[in-house]
Amino acid sequence: MALEFHCSDVGVVCSRVTKADSSEELLVKVAEHAKSKHGVELNATLVDYAASRVRQSGGGSDSSA
Ligand SMILES: [Zn+2]
Repeated sequence: MALEFHCSDVGVVCSRVTKADSSEELLVKVAEHAKSKHGVELNATLVDYAASRVRQSGGGSDSSA
């Protein structure tokens, strides 16, 4: 089961979709991307927020809006 994070889901104008197999790995990748591409250092609050916007990829019927 893969997880993915869309920058656009947190209001960032960016088409990047970050994917990983675990939420921990995903958030590390998201933090790296946010810092290198957006100049944003993720603090605990932002990590929490990002985690709340993580999607399960490959799904279709079980979408939670
Ligand atoms: Zn981005």
